Amino acid sequence: MSIASESLLVPVIDLTNTAQTHPHHARQIRRLGAGVILTLLLSLLLMPVRAQEAPAEPEDPQPRPRPQPVQTLSADGLTANLYFGALTQGQVGLVHLTGDGIRSARALLRTREYEFQPGPDGWYTLVVADIDAVARDYPLSILAQREDGQLSSLEARLTINAAGFLRQGFSVPADRAFLTDPEVERYEFARIDLMTLERRPDWLWELGGFQLPIGSDFTSGFGQYRILNQNSITRHTGWDQRAPVGTPVGAMAGGEVVFAGQLDIRGNYVLIDHGWGVYSGYAHLSQINVAVGQMIERGQLLGLSGNTGRSSGPHLHWEINVHGEWVDGVAFLEMWLPGT
Ligand SMILES: [Zn+2]
Repeated sequence: MSIASESLLVPVIDLTNTAQTHPHHARQIRRLGAGVILTLLLSLLLMPVRAQEAPAEPEDPQPRPRPQPVQTLSADGLTANLYFGALTQGQVGLVHLTGDGIRSARALLRTREYEFQPGPDGWYTLVVADIDAVARDYPLSILAQREDGQLSSLEARLTINAAGFLRQGFSVPADRAFLTDPEVERYEFARIDLMTLERRPDWLWELGGFQLPIGSDFTSGFGQYRILNQNSITRHTGWDQRAPVGTPVGAMAGGEVVFAGQLDIRGNYVLIDHGWGVYSGYAHLSQINVAVGQMIERGQLLGLSGNTGRSSGPHLHWEINVHGEWVDGVAFLEMWLPGT
């Protein structure tokens, strides 16, 4: 995990409580005339009720500036731009491939194949330094088939660095302790593997890219080892944010709802396909407002946060899956992607 990600774990001070209890603020309020206070109260009453709205769509989103590729490789009539140097466990890298007459292409890294998708200016794929990758150098092979049937290839090397994932004890309430059974977890992961098999060739995210589903502070980070009830061990596949039951949850980007229903561990769960093998999931909801097959936009209300499934208290758990691997969603949010 990067230093930037860890710093997000620092609790944010609740300014509303400070304003109510701080003596300095109290003195200021006493100094205000009664008329001013009345005006303030009236304007507060006239303010729209934000609590029932989904996180707002950013007004007039600006395109993200396209970064310079970190590495450019050419061989066999192919040119690959890598928009990353070394990757940390759980991070995603963007590869841009150009060459004459490419019919299809794929990248090979560790045990996975990554299909390239056609973009406006060549071919693109996202490769994943998976959460369990041993930190060392790996070959990254790029293979392309030409229109005339010929194969071309290009070899790169990728360093995967250790993220230093933390260990955390996690207590599941007694009435839900059966959800710590590793068999329950294997079954749920297998179901999600099936839901995320589809690789849409088009992207469905909008200009400006992905955004957080709610605006509150982070309470638990991606990748942590969790020891459940001092019994079984699991990995944290996403990020947790503070959320009282009933907090509106917005879509992180445009996409298609591919699951909206109940799972054992994730409770009431919504899964969105954003295209290019990118999915976002929203867990432990108290209410679901969307249905499978529905096309949604960034910021659209998906449901209300809750405490369903294997949860030890109300919060929002969200997660990003790329090509079948759970990735660090906060790092992913910061990435430049074509179309953002
Ligand atoms: Zn979580």
